[in-house]
Amino acid sequence: MLSASIEDYIKAIYALQTDRETASTKRIAERLGVKMASVTGMIKHLAAEGYAKHKPYRGAVLTERGKRVALGMIRRHRLIELFLASTLGLSWDELHADAELLEHAVSDRLIERMFEYLGRPQFDPHGSPIPSRDGSMTPRHSSRLDELALGDTGKVVAVSGRDPEFLRYLTDLNLRIGSKILVRDRAPFNGPITLRVGSRTIAIGHEAAARIRVSVDAPTKGARKPKPEVKRGSRTSRRAHKRR
Ligand SMILES: [Zn+2]
Repeated sequence: MLSASIEDYIKAIYALQTDRETASTKRIAERLGVKMASVTGMIKHLAAEGYAKHKPYRGAVLTERGKRVALGMIRRHRLIELFLASTLGLSWDELHADAELLEHAVSDRLIERMFEYLGRPQFDPHGSPIPSRDGSMTPRHSSRLDELALGDTGKVVAVSGRDPEFLRYLTDLNLRIGSKILVRDRAPFNGPITLRVGSRTIAIGHEAAARIRVSVDAPTKGARKPKPEVKRGSRTSRRAHKRR
């Protein structure tokens, strides 16, 4: 078993790489809250062990071996979160911190037992895919909530960001994984987006909406899109925010 610290470095490099950011010494140090000198030392160690390479101008880059470790850690983390939510009923804002601790401690055997117990799940409580044992993940088509057009309907499938305050804010708005939404209005100039969630009408800012992913329903034939609640500016904003 690798040390918790090595595992955290590998995870940090993987996260930066998937965000298409260079895993520079500075960025890794910021992410882990450690000194740059410690990062330099660790990258050398990871290179010697065959987990990463240090490339000029590209920072640390994981090798295939390093990527396998990273995906294994993500699998552990997400299964632990789902296990804590399903068995102890922890809410989604309470999961991440404990999973960060437990992911280093639980044996592979226990993780696989959790996987079976949970019915071989594909997604964690935040809607993120759980890598399979061979590291593959279930792809899913979704759109960012802030890029939806007026009248679009769909279902919340994932949120990015694990900040407990953000997750509690979404809970207050009645937004959770599986919530059905309808875009009622989009205020111009990046103003708030008005949504119908269940029987409630809520307003959400762009910053929060950008962190929510929605599986958009295909438009039903002949169905008319609802009229916006506020007319002024809506056409412009709809054109400006056409889904990519
Ligand atoms: Zn987490």
